[in-house]
Parts: sequence; C-alpha cells; structure tokens
Amino acid sequence: MHEGSAAGPADDGMRDKCGVVGVALEERGAARPCYYGLYALQHRGQESAGIVTHDGFQQHDHVKMGLVGEAFTEDDLDGLQGENGVGHVRYPTAGSVDKACAQPFTVSFRSGSLALSHNGNLVNAGEIREELAGEGHAFTSDGDTEVIAHDLARNLLDADLVRAVKRTMDRIHGSYALTVMHDETVIGIRDPQGNRPLCLGKVDDGYVLASESAAIDTLGGELIRDVKPGELVLLEPDGSGYESYQLIEQENTAHCFFEHVYFARPDSVIDDELVYDTRRGLGARLWEESGVESDVVMPVPDSGRAFATGYAEAATEELGDDAPEFAEGLMKNRYVGRTFIMPTQDQREQAVRLKLNPIRSTVEGKTVTLIDDSIVRGTTSTQLVSLLEDAGAAEVHLRIGAPEIVAPCYMGIDMASREELIAAGQDTDDIREVVGGDSLSYLSVDGVAEVLGESRADLCLGCVTGEYPYEIDGETTDRDVSRPEIEGAVADD
Ligand code: AMP
Repeated sequence: MHEGSAAGPADDGMRDKCGVVGVALEERGAARPCYYGLYALQHRGQESAGIVTHDGFQQHDHVKMGLVGEAFTEDDLDGLQGENGVGHVRYPTAGSVDKACAQPFTVSFRSGSLALSHNGNLVNAGEIREELAGEGHAFTSDGDTEVIAHDLARNLLDADLVRAVKRTMDRIHGSYALTVMHDETVIGIRDPQGNRPLCLGKVDDGYVLASESAAIDTLGGELIRDVKPGELVLLEPDGSGYESYQLIEQENTAHCFFEHVYFARPDSVIDDELVYDTRRGLGARLWEESGVESDVVMPVPDSGRAFATGYAEAATEELGDDAPEFAEGLMKNRYVGRTFIMPTQDQREQAVRLKLNPIRSTVEGKTVTLIDDSIVRGTTSTQLVSLLEDAGAAEVHLRIGAPEIVAPCYMGIDMASREELIAAGQDTDDIREVVGGDSLSYLSVDGVAEVLGESRADLCLGCVTGEYPYEIDGETTDRDVSRPEIEGAVADD
C-alpha cells in the first residue's frame, strides 16, 4: 500500500488524499446522506468508498473499491441501518489497489465498536504500531488509520470517549481530519495544526461533519463552521445537537495551502475562505508578479480556470482594452480520468493528449498565456506547450498559480517523490528548457501566503519550501514542534 520507498524515510503510513463524512440524524437513516456526501467529495478520492452505520445495537458496513456510484447498490444502502454513520472516499495511489486500506476502518473490542475515516497522514505511526504490536495488538493493514483505531480502542478500555481521544491525540504526530463512530456516537477530530480541512454543518434533522462544505451544501444543509485545529466535535446520537471539546491548543496552524490551490472544490469554503475566490486572488497576484502582455489568456481546464479568470481580470483592470482576452483554447474530454495516476510516463503523456485538445482558431497566430495551478512532474505543461505550438501559437507563456513544488508531501497528499518532481533541484530556467514555451513564471511563496491571508508560520508549505510543520525523519522543520516520545519504540524505518 505504500507509495514506494522513493517516498522517503518518513513514509510509514498511507499517503492518501481522502474525503470523510459523519452524520447524526433524528429519525432518518444515515446511509443515504453519507452516500450523497461522499458523492460530493468524490474528487478527494476515487479508489474506494465506504460507509459504516450504527443502529443502536450494532454496526453495519459496506466498503468497496471504485467510485461512489459503483460501490453501492440500493440494497447495499438499505442494509446500512441506523441514524448515525461515517463514510470515506480514498484516493488512488499509483499501482496499489488494496482493499485492506479501504475505509472506514472498523474494529470491535471489549468496550464497543469503532469505525474510523481518516484524511491525512501520521509521521510517527510506525513507532506507535511497534509499541502496540509489542503489547499484543494484531494489525491487518500497514496503514496509519489502523494504528489510530488500536490506540483509541486501548484508551477506551479505561477512559470515556473524549478522554480516550485526548490521550491518542497526545501520542499521534502528523496530519489528521477524522470522523470516528464509537458505538452510535459520531465525532469529528482535526489535528492540532488543522492541516486537512473538516467542517460542521446543520441539516433539518441533524448534524453533519465533512471534509468540505460542498458536501453539506449537497445535503441541503448549512455550514456552521470549520472544526477547529485540536478540537473534537461530538454529534449527539439523536441528532439534537453537538458538543465541542478543545482538546489541544497550539499557537500556530499548519493549513495545507495546496487544498486551496488544487485539491478542494472551488465551491467549498475552507477555513472561512471560498476556494474559488482564493484561486481568483492567486490569479490576480500572478498577474501582479509576472504578468506578460499577450493576445489571449487561456486556462488549463479545469484546474487553471479560476486562476486564469483572476489573472485576466487583474490585467483588464490595469491595461483596459489592451489587456489580453480571456479565451478557452483547450477542450477537455470529460470522460477521461485523472492523468496523474497513470503508472508510466508514456501513459501519462498519451493521456494528456486524450484529455485536452486545442481549439485551433483561438490559438493560431496568437501569443498565448497558458495558466495552470501547479506543475508536479511537468508532464501536463510539456504536452500542452507543444500542443499549442503545433496548433499554430506564435508564443506560449506559462504562468503557474503555485510556487515550484520541490519536495514531497508527507501530510496525506499523493504528490510524487523528489526524483519525479521537475522543480526539485532545478531552477525556473532549467524547467522552462524542459517544458518549452517562451517564458515560465511561478507564484511566489509570499504571494500565496498574502492571498490566503495567513502568515507563513500558519501554513504547511512543505512541498514548496522543503521545510515541514511536523518533525519528520530525514526532513527539516520550519517551526518549534515536538514529536511525542513513544515508549519502547525505535525510530520509524
Ligand atoms: P504534472 O503533469 O505531473 O506536472 O501535474 C500537473 C497537473 O496535475 C496540473 O494540471 C495539476 O492541476 C494537477 N495536479 C497537481 N497535483 C496533483 C495531485 N497531487 N494529484 C493529481 N493531480 C495533480
């Protein structure tokens, strides 16, 4: 299930970008709201989907590989009885399709049942696993979610739910947005630095927790607020309300900037910001930092669209009629899946051509500014520059709404290893040589922080600075963090 040894020394758990939901309703089954919530979060994970409900007596679970729409039949949903439930969609990692890692992860033990949905990645799961294994806990997967489940189960033997969670939070280090169901009680937990998003919403007859507010919108509910970093939100099992416990407080957050740049849906509100507005703001900033005069501004669909809109608006504000015209010059075949997960480079290149085709009339003879959110391996940009040149573009200027991605993500995003990242160890001129085109500029790290309205000390910028907000074996950190000491464990391998 591991992404591979290339991921580095701290790769001791799942490297998943996932989506989680949790639901507590008055008198309505939780299965369908979980199902629609997961549908709304499908962009966060396409490998597997799962729902676990509790009917007051026992758990019911259905977890399957594939998209949400493929994973459940009407009968499956009918079988998931009870008014409380949690759900999960899991992101694919190259070459690994492993049912043991599909979630929610369930475990039954002396003091009841647990179901866990996790988005994020622990960096000290190996140490805790080793300690628990030494005490006789048997593990069925190599994922870090199972480590949280066992640790919590052990703590629940002699503490109530809130205290048990606090004890587990004092031991785990890394990124986690969790929805957990203990018997019929659903809770949401966000790591003390709030790395991954998690929010709370109200529907007519109950409460909902979800990775993104778009899931709450889909259920016809209203966003109440984000779960705070270090907070536990407990949904009353009868759907009548919720309780909040601020279990850990830390001075700084480590919000993942990449959620705003790429992962989250543009119609979601994360940490009080509408993602679409943030992306437009980043696009405007890109114009300020490295605007270039050209005939047209063209987004890479769909990832560059909001950025290109903001960029073109800012250009028009400054240049009026002389500003480049916003134009759609690349058409997307919506039936082609993500190229990023294609295991071989050849397949990835072919897939970009399958996915995007230029509209010759918007391109031919024109100077084009092509805008995307990010460059990871460089496959997409390289292919698109040559596609536009083949279609007759006079010049192609590439503008990227995020800084150079120079280091891997250990916090739950399937990015790539250092060896695969085009910007690792290369400067912008070198990258332009590889990618082609007439010019290339990325957004600055300070530009991102300013547009997000957060100081650098409150963001996780690990993939663009190489310095992480957690203490990771073999990497450097940009802040004062302390990784918990786990008794009797040797360091992760
Ligand atoms: P690449 O072709 O490897 O440079 O990937 C860049 C393209 O993939 C951009 O269009 C991004 O929108 C998109 N992208 C960036 N990060 C990821 C990710 N972690 N998973 C999937 N796609 C991504």
